[in-house]
Amino acid sequence: MAIVCEHRCRMGTVETVRIAKRTGFCYGVREAIDKAKESAAGGKATHTLGQVVHNEGVIQNLLDFGVRSVESLDDVDNGAAVVIRAHGVKPEVFERAEDRGLEVIDGTCTWVIAEQRQLRELVAEGYTIVLLGTPKHPEVVGLLGFAPDAIVVDEEADWVNIPRRKRMALISQSTQPPWKFEKLAAFMVNRSHELKIVNTVCPVTIRRQEDTVEAAREVDLMVVVGGRSSANTKELTRLCGIVGTPAIQIEHAPDLNDPSVFDGKKVVGVTGGTSTPIEDLRDVAERVLAMAGTPTVAARAVELAREALASAATPAGRTTSLPSTRPDQLPTQTQTHGAA
Ligand code: SF4
Repeated sequence: MAIVCEHRCRMGTVETVRIAKRTGFCYGVREAIDKAKESAAGGKATHTLGQVVHNEGVIQNLLDFGVRSVESLDDVDNGAAVVIRAHGVKPEVFERAEDRGLEVIDGTCTWVIAEQRQLRELVAEGYTIVLLGTPKHPEVVGLLGFAPDAIVVDEEADWVNIPRRKRMALISQSTQPPWKFEKLAAFMVNRSHELKIVNTVCPVTIRRQEDTVEAAREVDLMVVVGGRSSANTKELTRLCGIVGTPAIQIEHAPDLNDPSVFDGKKVVGVTGGTSTPIEDLRDVAERVLAMAGTPTVAARAVELAREALASAATPAGRTTSLPSTRPDQLPTQTQTHGAA
């Protein structure tokens, strides 16, 4: 219960906010964003093919650098640079871009490139391929360019439609939950004589889930930040529930309008999907502290949110994009970054 003072004003109960470790952009997203910014900073007209992430702040930040997202190669001016985002694309897209004389900057995540290579090999080896993934997700659309006959399955209810074949292979979209992949693998064992399992669930996704579960065990409520349709974000929310910690999922800090959600909560955790910038987690932490913190905590919301961010973003797992996120502070030389 919230404490209501004699003037009927609400007094919050939150004492601490903890940001889960190793959050922020995954290395694939970060690299694609950095490549786009570096191209634009070099004076090249630069576009991204599709939004690099569905996050207004990131899209605006890229626009500040002069990077515009386009839905089709037809929208890119001749001679301009086009950045392929981390999800990757079908091979035909590269061919079309080259035919148009565009400079293609390949931001496909190295993990996704490995998936594409694996699919090509499975096709050459004659396997009937089952791909666990969300059918219209851009990564899956791109992967199908390497294995057009692959059978895409998502929800468990659809698995009975998987045909029985002598030689089958199972592979996954990078951000699928590991438990789902394992369950489908077990399901497929008796649908084929030979089953090849290629586990392409991304390690960053797995680590993110582990760190979220660890954080959820130590707090009274979790706030999960990420795109409404992001599969890996929804999975984080689900995992908090499994641990027994209530969780709310939001896209960004302004979505938090109702302080009563935090009534009686002392310790609140914050985590985010692989496309959520870590700065958004800091903003969420600040909003929670300001709107639902005890009077002393609320008064120090900015400082405490900054501290929560500092203890989450360790140097070994740096999670921000370029050190400077403003074009006027862009470094003069290309910088290299370690993986998340
Ligand atoms: S989630 Fe993993 S595979 Fe997907 S872009 Fe990020 S690092 Fe790459």
